[in-house]
Amino acid sequence: KRTPLVAGNWKMNGDPSLVEGMAAALAGYDGAAQMVICPPFPFLAQARELFAGHVAIGAQNLSDQEEGAYTGEVSASMLAGAGCGYVIIGHSERRALYGETDALIAAKFARAQTEGLVPILCVGETLEEREAGKTEAVVCGQLQAVIDAAGIEAFARAVVAYEPVWAIGTGMTASPEQAQEVHATLRQTVASYSADIAASLPLLYGGSVKADNAALLFAQSDIDGGLIGGASLTADSFLAICRAA
Ligand code: 13P
Repeated sequence: KRTPLVAGNWKMNGDPSLVEGMAAALAGYDGAAQMVICPPFPFLAQARELFAGHVAIGAQNLSDQEEGAYTGEVSASMLAGAGCGYVIIGHSERRALYGETDALIAAKFARAQTEGLVPILCVGETLEEREAGKTEAVVCGQLQAVIDAAGIEAFARAVVAYEPVWAIGTGMTASPEQAQEVHATLRQTVASYSADIAASLPLLYGGSVKADNAALLFAQSDIDGGLIGGASLTADSFLAICRAA
């Protein structure tokens, strides 16, 4: 059985007092889920100190380059040195707003792993793509691009998050059945290369996960936890979601 994983993606939100409040609230959690918080870069050091190993830390982005003249970028080794165990890669906001291509995402994925960071690779379709019946083609295409570049073995040390773009920040959640269908397809794609890696790969659902819908989503056989946006910004709701995992 895969260990449930619940990751909070704060996006460009939060402040030092949120790190403090979250650390206090999560300290008493003794459930089965691995908790991960992905705050903005400036709060990583504080998060490392206050979460003290109880909650893992992730970044929301990294450079595909190793080091050097890349103004504004942050490298994988810097993130590892700052205590990150995870890094979100290919979030739909970065694909749509910052022009990240499958090729760049694959390069970032590989770079993360060279420093021992576990990539949380995000895939997901837009509403237009879903309505055109292209969901499977889009999400499997996004996954395949990274499999082709990094090799299937890389997925022994990775997490994949299915985040339908139409469900992100909209309050519209994929139904547990809709999400399960896509998760099963993603797992089958990996299984066509390696049954073992497919069986161990954590597949997270993201997109308007809240305290009141998390349990039904997490009960699906191929949903191993969640990638939480808005509801990760209040300790009570994030904790409730972790308890549902
Ligand atoms: P919401 O939970 O706010 O819909 O965001 C989901 C998300 O994008 C997490 O990465």
